Amino acid sequence: MELADVADDLTEVLLTEVQIHDKIAELARRVEHDYAGERLLLVGVLKGAVMVMADVARELKIHVDMDWMAVSSYGMSTESSGVVRILKDLDSDLTGRHVLIVEDIIDSGLTLSWLRANLASRGPASLEILALLRKPDAVKVAVDVKYIGFDIPNAFVVGYGLDFAEKYRNLRGVAVLAPHVYE
Ligand code: 5GP
Repeated sequence: MELADVADDLTEVLLTEVQIHDKIAELARRVEHDYAGERLLLVGVLKGAVMVMADVARELKIHVDMDWMAVSSYGMSTESSGVVRILKDLDSDLTGRHVLIVEDIIDSGLTLSWLRANLASRGPASLEILALLRKPDAVKVAVDVKYIGFDIPNAFVVGYGLDFAEKYRNLRGVAVLAPHVYE
């Protein structure tokens, strides 16, 4: 789906398909260089990271394994609490593996900081994070992220894997959702 197909639901286009593609290629070149000669395990966080994972994996010119985890924050709050529940765990044993967590967006950083600690406790040889988007103004806990795509404003965005009520994940670009959609 194109951003133009739902233009009335969006207030501002932040990233086009081409901008995302170019950035992912740039990040993939760094990853290839950093993991040359290593067998890398990409860990995608469902569901938002599906698009980033698919595009990063296909852009890489090195062999990678892929695994998936699904997590959810406890509680009714719309804001992340930092208390995380595993809905689906990895199939892989991380012992001695080079692991790269692939994430869609870092908002407060609470989810990712929990996830990093959880995966670190499983004995990987190395553990790094790639995130396509980061909201610097929303960060509550600093997370050490090696590969960042774009810093974006502190607004609710949709597209390229990011949803509102399960919609808009299949948008090719990323845009700010218009308030009339969720109010
Ligand atoms: P954090 O724990 O960093 O606050 O939350 C991270 C998760 O919240 C992301 O993986 C994503 O699922 C969700 N999230 C944060 N900001 C946005 C946003 O602007 N749009 C959407 N659709 N989801 C977001």
